[in-house]
Amino acid sequence: MGVLVDLQNLLNNIYDELYERIGTGAVADYIPELAKVDKNQFGISVATTDGQVFSVGDATTAFSIQSISKVFTLTLALGRYGNSVWKRVGREPSGSSFNSIVQLEFEKGRPRNPFINAGAIVISDLILSGHQPREAIGEILDFMRYLAQDESIIVDHDVAKSEMRTGHRNLALASFMKSFANLDHDAAHVLGVYFHQCAIAMSCEQLASAGLFLADGGRNKALGLRVVSAERARRINALMMMCGHYDASGDFAYRVGMPGKSGVGGGILAIAPEKASIAVWSPGLDGFGNSVLGTAALELLAHRTGWSVFGA
Ligand code: GLN
Repeated sequence: MGVLVDLQNLLNNIYDELYERIGTGAVADYIPELAKVDKNQFGISVATTDGQVFSVGDATTAFSIQSISKVFTLTLALGRYGNSVWKRVGREPSGSSFNSIVQLEFEKGRPRNPFINAGAIVISDLILSGHQPREAIGEILDFMRYLAQDESIIVDHDVAKSEMRTGHRNLALASFMKSFANLDHDAAHVLGVYFHQCAIAMSCEQLASAGLFLADGGRNKALGLRVVSAERARRINALMMMCGHYDASGDFAYRVGMPGKSGVGGGILAIAPEKASIAVWSPGLDGFGNSVLGTAALELLAHRTGWSVFGA
């Protein structure tokens, strides 16, 4: 009993301690629809591998998962294409911003990793193979609903449209890769898939449940099945640790020490292997596009639980 009660208390305490800082950071205003989000929101959910869920704050409010979707599209692409995915995209930290274009020219259109935008666009291109864009989006959405066991999860079409109208830099990245023959489909079609996956709206509770397979050696006990092999779960975690926060991945490892993936909607999914899947959300971002309060919450949580993979 003690451990579970402690975890709820711990979340309550973290929430109370950070309460005064709610609203710090800046919303992602380069996506006009995200600029409208009230930044005075903050939620945390922890789904443990023994099937419990603990939450505090705005943990049932849906938000735009944005780049957190890249973890799940990578999982789908690896399931379909296995290691041949790595012919198209690397596995190294980029040390540059999520939407940087400079490295792509030096490295001949093969993005550094699947979590920067260019890499995720290549992954969307793979998922699009053999499908219409609408079907590929449906496949990604179905996967999220299945993992979270929640059919109510939707794509926020206003957010997707907002990015379609303003995502010129992503179009540049996609076109640039097309010039290196690292995109099979039309850039516009691939971006249609990419923008819609980013526009999936989920709450902390839904996201923590969806990520549970990564904390439990590839299994999801609630579903009673294996989602990926233990080896694949371990490797996805490794990529999240090295690349999940772009050019702030080192700092996230230093402060939090768990595999994590952020999104410009203000969410972060973090994995405590064998222990829990954690989703935090607060829309205010730092200069790297990562949630200020979300990172602070994970730092406190990792410190107090000893869940850093580098030791207590
Ligand atoms: N959809 C966003 C973009 O492409 C995702 C970026 C992010 O969440 N870091 O710019």
